[in-house]
Amino acid sequence: MKLSKRAATITPSSTLAITAKANHLKAEGHDVIGLGAGEPDFNTPKHIIDAAMQAVNSGHTKYTPSAGLPALKQAIVEKLQRDQNLQYDPSNVIVASGAKHALYLLFQSYIDPGDEVIILSPYWVSYPEQVKLAGGIPVIVDTDESNQFKVTVDQLQKAVSNKTKALIINSPSNPTGMIYTKQELEAIGAFCVEHNLLIISDEIYEKLVYGQNRHVSIAECSDEIRKQTVIINGVSKSHAMTGWRIGYAVGDAELIKAMTNVASHSTSNPATVSQYAAIAAYNGTQEPVKQMQEAFEERLNKAYETLTQIPGLTCIKPQGAFYLFPNAKKAAEVTGYANVTEWVSALLSEEKVALVPGEGFGAPEYVRLSYATSLDQIEEALSRINRFMKNHM
Ligand code: PLP
Repeated sequence: MKLSKRAATITPSSTLAITAKANHLKAEGHDVIGLGAGEPDFNTPKHIIDAAMQAVNSGHTKYTPSAGLPALKQAIVEKLQRDQNLQYDPSNVIVASGAKHALYLLFQSYIDPGDEVIILSPYWVSYPEQVKLAGGIPVIVDTDESNQFKVTVDQLQKAVSNKTKALIINSPSNPTGMIYTKQELEAIGAFCVEHNLLIISDEIYEKLVYGQNRHVSIAECSDEIRKQTVIINGVSKSHAMTGWRIGYAVGDAELIKAMTNVASHSTSNPATVSQYAAIAAYNGTQEPVKQMQEAFEERLNKAYETLTQIPGLTCIKPQGAFYLFPNAKKAAEVTGYANVTEWVSALLSEEKVALVPGEGFGAPEYVRLSYATSLDQIEEALSRINRFMKNHM
């Protein structure tokens, strides 16, 4: 089969590869603990499910406008006003089939072949692939623990060229859990304004912030910065709604219109029932969001304490999202594995604990553990990792 060049350049998702191996072991009857998941383990709150049922029972089973139901766009406008004090018009909003699809529509509408997009490593696996799917060139800028995995304007200065069209910022970050402060965002925003770069601000983990940390949207920094920003967000992580597939993009009305045209010829519209559910998510009580945030924070604190006592793993404490991202280079070395990916593979075979190697996030010395699973499971997994280390040192 002669596939398109476009499809041939795409790297399969590393997160899905480990999940497939874990599922295979599970099917063979092994007691596998998966810490690979990128989704909350909680059920969608009941009032949201009820709203969806009511919508279906009332006959809301037809197509909607491509950019989404007016009532949902209005709910998103109000959410941005309420949470970020940002004023937008519904013409600035497109609802998509998940934040991932909102990003896809954005790259298809904004990137031409040869355009460069700055991506900060460690990055979420889909950014480089989506840029490549649009014919763009991902320009990776590495960050590391010495600066809390945060980029500096100095680094951006070295990466920018006359082909650069956009920068992606993801705060709180998947996989590192780091959060940019307002001051840091102001500096990055000013740089993007100076170089006329579109700022793609992926805020999907907005509601999952811990301790004294606070989520700030880069669009809040100034009106000038806001005009050059597209906010990406959705209900997947905040409201435990990964399977409903509702996300959105908010930004320049002309760009949103172009994205709507692309959507109109690909998906037509996000699933109607899911849009009704999302209206309830944004307009209804936010109490379940708070409860889930509190549960995640408790897990983070316990898991972090145990994990940092495991020999060979070092980790800076995440500030948000639901991942731990320790450096496992030493763990691989002292147990005799050539690299972290092999160490992860051995851990799965021997102790039946599934982690995601950092390779797919552009950080091969690291490993990602999701704490979007029960505390019992997390503690059991960590004790198995500890045993694995002791048995192999
Ligand atoms: N952005 C980041 C950083 C993510 O981690 C994810 C999901 O894993 C998404 C976007 C996509 O979310 P959605 O389920 O809304 O497509």
